[in-house]
Amino acid sequence: MRIDTHWDTPMYLLKTDDLWHLPDAQADLQRLTQHIDVGVLAIYLDDNDYIGREADTFRFIQKKLNASIAMHADQIAVLHDRKQLAAGGKYGIIAAEGGRCLGAHGENLSEFFENGMRWLGLTWNYRNALAGGAKEENDLTEVGKQVVKRCGELGIVVDTAHLGETSFWQLVKFTDRPIVCSHTACRHLCPEAGVRAFSDEQLKAVAALGGVTGMCFVPSFLGGQPGVARVADHIEHAAEVAGIDHVGLGSDLDGCQPPVELNRLEKQYVLWDELRRRGWKEEEIDKVAGNNFRRVLQEVLPK
Ligand SMILES: [Zn+2]
Repeated sequence: MRIDTHWDTPMYLLKTDDLWHLPDAQADLQRLTQHIDVGVLAIYLDDNDYIGREADTFRFIQKKLNASIAMHADQIAVLHDRKQLAAGGKYGIIAAEGGRCLGAHGENLSEFFENGMRWLGLTWNYRNALAGGAKEENDLTEVGKQVVKRCGELGIVVDTAHLGETSFWQLVKFTDRPIVCSHTACRHLCPEAGVRAFSDEQLKAVAALGGVTGMCFVPSFLGGQPGVARVADHIEHAAEVAGIDHVGLGSDLDGCQPPVELNRLEKQYVLWDELRRRGWKEEEIDKVAGNNFRRVLQEVLPK
C-alpha cells in the first residue's frame, strides 16, 4: 500500500470546487487514484490571512473537500475507519495542519471529526491554544492534553510536524499511543533546518510509541544537493536510527517546491527506484512507501 502523509492540495479549494484534475498542482485526486492508495489532505490555515477565521475557513474547506471526493465516489472515498482500509481502495484522509481551527478550548474537535477529520497537526510554526510551534515554543497546554486524549478516544491521528520541541517531549511523556510526524527530515543531515527537522532522539521517541515519521521533499530541510539521492539519504538515516518499521513518506506536495525529479506525484516512483538501486528489498520499500503508516492507521482509526 502506498501512502503519502502530507499534501497542501486542499488549498486549491479556495479557488475551485474539485480537486480531481489540477494540471498546475503537484498532486490531485485523479493522480492519487492512479499512483498511490491513500493521501493525507491537509487543510492549512495558521497564517496571518486566517487569524480569527480559522474555524469557519476550516469548515468551508472541509465541506468542499468532502463534496469534491463525493463527486468521484466510484473511484475514491474519505477514509473514516479501519474497515475501509482493510477492504482496500483509494482514500483521502482529511487533516488539519495546525490546531487553531479547533478553537481556544478545542471545542470544535468533535464537529470536525463528525465531518471526517482523522488527522490533526497540533500546531503549525507558532504557538496556539494546544502547544508551542517550531518557531514559538510553549508547553503542551491543558487544552492540548485534553485534545490529544480525545483524539485517542475518537480515532484521530496526532501529528507532531511543526511542533516545538518542548511540546514534543511533553507529548511523548503524556501519551502512550502511537503518534506520527507527517512531514519532516533528519536534523542530523541538515542541522540548518533546525526544529523543523527531527533529531535522532525524536525519531527514536516516535518509534518507541509505535509511530512513524514521514520524510519530506522540502529542499531547505534536505540540505546538501536536494534531489532524489538526498531524499533517499534522509530515509536511510531515519531507518537506521528509528528502525525500518518507523519511517514513511510525507512529501509536502503543493506545500513546497520539491527537487524537480520529484515535483509531481507521478514522479514518485523514482524515489523507490533509487532505494532499489541502493539494495533495498521490495518488502523494505513497501514499508516506507506506505505499509508503516498503514499499521498506524489500523491502530488509531475508529473500528
Ligand atoms: Zn507543513
